Amino acid sequence: MFLDFMESKGHLKMKSFSLVPHNDNSLLIINSGMAPLKPYFTGQEIPPRRRVTTCQKCIRTGDIENIGKTARHGTFFEMLGNFSFGDYFKKEAIAWSWEFLTQVVGLDPDRLYPSVYEDDDEAFELWNKQQGIPAERIFRFGKEDNFWEHGSGPCGPCSEIYYDRGEKYGCGKPGCTVGCDCDRYMEVWNNVFSQFNNDGHGHYTDLIQKNIDTGMGLERLAVAVQDVDSIFDVDTLRALTDHVGEVAHAVYHEDEKKDVSIRIITDHIRSVTFMISDGIMPSNEGRGYVLRRLLRRAARHGRILGIDGLFLSELAKVVIATSKDGYPELEEKKEMILKVISEEENKFNRTIDQGLTILEDLEAAMKEEGKTTLDGADAFKLYDTYGFPLDLTKEILEEKGFDVDEEGFKENMEAQRQAARKARKTTNYMGADVTVYQSIDPSVTSKFVGYDKLVSDSKILVLTTEDEIVEALTDGQNGTIITEETPFYGTMGGQQGDIGVIETESGSFTVKDTIHLQGGKIGHVGTMTKGMLTQGETVTLKVDEKNRQLTSKNHSATHVLQKALRMVLGSHVEQAGSYVSKDRLRFDFTHFQAMTKEELAKVEEIVNDQIAAALPVVTKETTIDEAKKMGAMALFGEKYGSTVRVVCMGDFSLELCGGTHVSNTAAINCFKIISESGIAAGVRRIEALTSEGLIHYYEKLSADLAEASAAAKTTPDKLTERIETMQGEIKALQSENEKLKNQMAKDAVGNVMDQVVEINGVKLLAVALKDTGMNELRNLGDQFKEKLGNGVVVIASAADGKVNLMATATDEAIKAGAHAGNLIKGIAALVGGGGGGRPNMAQAGGKNPDGIQAALKKAAEVLKDQLNK
Ligand code: ATP
Ligand code: MG
Repeated sequence: MFLDFMESKGHLKMKSFSLVPHNDNSLLIINSGMAPLKPYFTGQEIPPRRRVTTCQKCIRTGDIENIGKTARHGTFFEMLGNFSFGDYFKKEAIAWSWEFLTQVVGLDPDRLYPSVYEDDDEAFELWNKQQGIPAERIFRFGKEDNFWEHGSGPCGPCSEIYYDRGEKYGCGKPGCTVGCDCDRYMEVWNNVFSQFNNDGHGHYTDLIQKNIDTGMGLERLAVAVQDVDSIFDVDTLRALTDHVGEVAHAVYHEDEKKDVSIRIITDHIRSVTFMISDGIMPSNEGRGYVLRRLLRRAARHGRILGIDGLFLSELAKVVIATSKDGYPELEEKKEMILKVISEEENKFNRTIDQGLTILEDLEAAMKEEGKTTLDGADAFKLYDTYGFPLDLTKEILEEKGFDVDEEGFKENMEAQRQAARKARKTTNYMGADVTVYQSIDPSVTSKFVGYDKLVSDSKILVLTTEDEIVEALTDGQNGTIITEETPFYGTMGGQQGDIGVIETESGSFTVKDTIHLQGGKIGHVGTMTKGMLTQGETVTLKVDEKNRQLTSKNHSATHVLQKALRMVLGSHVEQAGSYVSKDRLRFDFTHFQAMTKEELAKVEEIVNDQIAAALPVVTKETTIDEAKKMGAMALFGEKYGSTVRVVCMGDFSLELCGGTHVSNTAAINCFKIISESGIAAGVRRIEALTSEGLIHYYEKLSADLAEASAAAKTTPDKLTERIETMQGEIKALQSENEKLKNQMAKDAVGNVMDQVVEINGVKLLAVALKDTGMNELRNLGDQFKEKLGNGVVVIASAADGKVNLMATATDEAIKAGAHAGNLIKGIAALVGGGGGGRPNMAQAGGKNPDGIQAALKKAAEVLKDQLNK
């Protein structure tokens, strides 16, 4: 009704855009009807009509804490909107919103209350005079509620329409009226009048192009119309709510605590299902993390309700069935949506078990320390690292008489939030990063003519340097050239843009990259290498033919590969990304485990068979519906215009694709997969080569092999055998080496024995060894002592520029007056160190290896003194 009504007021109906923002890094997920239309509001792109209306799927994670608790919030909802890009303004917007609510939908006008920004007398007058609403029913609110602004840039007041649902929904507090946070007066529609520009210092000037941006929650409108408790009681959502109740063996509206869980599951499964249908995969960051959090939260509430086993994909089926008419992508991606959900739910169940084990350890530690409260930091770590929700931690601990330091948990959480907030970039209300390209006249567009020709002449429309629009580019300057027509393919759909030259008789520009700019412009980015090119001049654009050919081969191979993967692995395989350049191709797809050797071989074989079959490649333009009927696979989140291009390879493959291709699969020559790996949960990546790239790869392999064989003094065919022989030889040599070392150590002991001298009837062995560590010195000391029978042993060794010294004495020698500790003390200074020890055993370190001989000599003197006392 809404879309038809707005159509009757001259609006163009457009389909909901994907939840994944296009070319907008200021926003993680689309959260309003206006968000995907930003380029039309800023004037960056020319809208198909100046009045547009949509029903847009939206996700607001900012509302997550409200879900299940208020009657009016979902993380997922559908937003109805009408938009004016510099066309009609407040007068029409206000009149139409009133007409729609009171006459088309038939809501009781006495239950509707508008609000306006306190200084917006214009809007007030329109409500009061034009619509005849008594002044006391129109509420004026401050900036906080009724002014839309975000940093610098376009901004303006808004006017909201509230619906009074009646006393039974009120909080009953005195002063409960429009604007109260309770669920009685529910905001259904917001009309934003974007009329000012804020220069960032609070100075407001009138915008030349004034816009209207409105948003009405479809679910909230239905609550008013159907007169039900909450958005979860609206007929369509109720189907889902009841289904949740069924799996949980709970009846909705019997137990408030259970109801909250039921509503959370109902809401979250809607978000989850829609997100996956737009190609978002669970992960630990960005959109993927939002998805993971919602899915796990739903799973957790399932556990709280006592649901056993996997249940979420069953619910997703209900979401798909009830919403597929408006959002056909749900049905198209059904198999894959269900699979991703079950995989992730499974993974979460395992995580929960892991978390339980860790919690048990924490409990044991608390018991030991006599504590009864779990540290906030520990609870947060469980939550943050193991996805273990605080409620669950609390619940489990409570059963055992423990509690959790919730304040500490919140502090940790807040600290992390602050850190995240700091990391976030600031942008204006429209979220744009200003670049030189945004100052280009939006009516400038370029036409791609390069599917079947690589050279063409055209007029230069715009020239830019890196930061300004210029009349001419001269030798040495870097910049961008935009022409009326171009045979250069701009990077899109994973295919890298063309390179080449743009030239006249006197000037030449090397194109290093070709890109798409907002508003249907194709930019040739590069450097002037000769002369000058000026605006308005006719130039010849020449695409590098070799580069294009190789890229096309890889692109065509990607299509054959995708089909082969679906044949070998199953129809859950969906493209999740691709990259095609002259050197190689990369293809990301949904699949849940590593591919086996056999699967990889089978895929390669199919692709090479299709190359050998020399299939003609035919492209044609048609409508999206026709293409789907033909069996084309549409990509996630891709915006398709009124005509689409279909690429067929014989009867084998059929895909929607705007890229460039070979005219026959035989041109691909050959195909080989170089690697297969996982890049995210449920997403695999294949890297592969074709034709020249593959030949280069084999050339390099064969050169490496030849080099390796030469180094091993053999030929490639005998290399393996040679390596095995060499390994055998190395083993034999190693064991021989061991034997020799042992022998040498024994011999060394034998040799040194002739250095024994006798002092006053006590034998002294004072020797220097090489590279011996302290432990080995002690062992040797014991061995020597045994051989001496009775006497004193002093050994010194230099290792790594340091000196190790040790002395040991037998009992009998000690009785005669020897003292190893004092002996060491007496000689250590000569090797630049100090040390000491007991009478029978002492050691020291030093820094001066040159003093070893002197120290050993001194040992004899010191011992003599000891024995003489
Ligand atoms: P509230 O203050 O009730 O959260 P809001 O001011 O955030 O609403 P807007 O940002 O103005 O809402 O969004 C426009 C309309 O979209 C709202 O009037 C409402 O009908 C709907 N809407 C907003 N948030 C939600 C939500 N979380 N769930 C369902 N509908 C919503
Ligand atoms: Mg809100």
